Amino acid sequence: MKIGVLAVQGAFIEQKDMIQKLGVECVELRQKSDLSGISGIIFPGGESTVQGSLLRQLDMLEPLKEMISDGLPTLATCAGLILLAKNIEHDHTVHLGTLPVTVKRNAYGRQLSSFCTDSSIKGFSNFPMIFIRAPYITDVEDNVEILSRIDQHIVAVQYKNQIALSFHPELSKDTRIHQSFLQMC
Ligand code: GLN
Repeated sequence: MKIGVLAVQGAFIEQKDMIQKLGVECVELRQKSDLSGISGIIFPGGESTVQGSLLRQLDMLEPLKEMISDGLPTLATCAGLILLAKNIEHDHTVHLGTLPVTVKRNAYGRQLSSFCTDSSIKGFSNFPMIFIRAPYITDVEDNVEILSRIDQHIVAVQYKNQIALSFHPELSKDTRIHQSFLQMC
């Protein structure tokens, strides 16, 4: 099995390290031709506007949309969640739009831009959650399962084959989310 991590910008190395630590091959996705033969895909944190425009320039947006809609197991963190979202608050931009949620970018503002907390996410208690200029989800459509809320804000969801998180599990030592993603793959 081979997992692909989008590697056009952002914190992809940490995702790759996590997958390799779990004994699974992980390749960096930098162009359209890298997309063949993967059993799952990870969208890392970083800057969603930069990632989105690079995906357009590289002509990767359409093939990715198709692969995700066809059921490719997908794990997205932070900027990755923004790339997947069908709606971005106060913004007409849609990148992949495969995840029927509305997301608010930099939702915690500039004062509290980064923080850590231990909380539960469906199936796992005491998960260390690291937020960095994080988005949260303000609305979900039918059939989107809410996996975790922090202070009433939605920070983790699953919709069919897509898991999307506001926080960064790859920056902690806790491998439980990545392990359960690999089981989906
Ligand atoms: N604030 C970033 C964005 O809007 C996301 C931050 C992150 O991925 N850590 O793209």
